[in-house]
Amino acid sequence: MNSQTHLVIASALLGRRATRTEQAAILVGAALPDFYMLPFILWGQFKNIPFGTLWGETYWQEPWQTFGAISNSIPLFVALLALGIWRSRALSLLAIAALLHLGIDFLTHASDAHKHFWPLMEWRFHSPISYWEQDYYASFVAAFEACLGLACIVLLWRRHSTIFIRIILGLTGITYLVVPVFWALSFST
Ligand SMILES: [Zn+2]
Repeated sequence: MNSQTHLVIASALLGRRATRTEQAAILVGAALPDFYMLPFILWGQFKNIPFGTLWGETYWQEPWQTFGAISNSIPLFVALLALGIWRSRALSLLAIAALLHLGIDFLTHASDAHKHFWPLMEWRFHSPISYWEQDYYASFVAAFEACLGLACIVLLWRRHSTIFIRIILGLTGITYLVVPVFWALSFST
């Protein structure tokens, strides 16, 4: 799913009794599997790669496939969780938030499924549904994602009274309108 959905789901589910540090760890964990997308997109901009080529070709080339495999590796985050259980609650929460992200992605990536168990095996589960591919019921999944994301935002809004956090939540809510329009425009040009 989209990165911001992972952030609000993880915060809503895991952040209730968390300290400030732990809440930050939850956000970092929820964002980590998608983080390599940032240098990827910047690289695409820098190299002037057209949007369609970037996602259709460059995405499937090295080193991006390996970065994706590392970032989305269930065994790596399970190892991190073991380390967290041994040493630190914040690290455990970070690993759980990342594993939650991977679990949701496992179910919502069709042709662009990740290598879930890298480096142990190359196998990918191609889900019958996708959060962005129209051939795999993306309209329904995206609508469900928006409802889920907005429900988490309402919950977090009630939990946090700080104006700064509420502004961030409001802006995050708006992405559920903006993101589909952005994708539609990008692919139609
Ligand atoms: Zn992801």
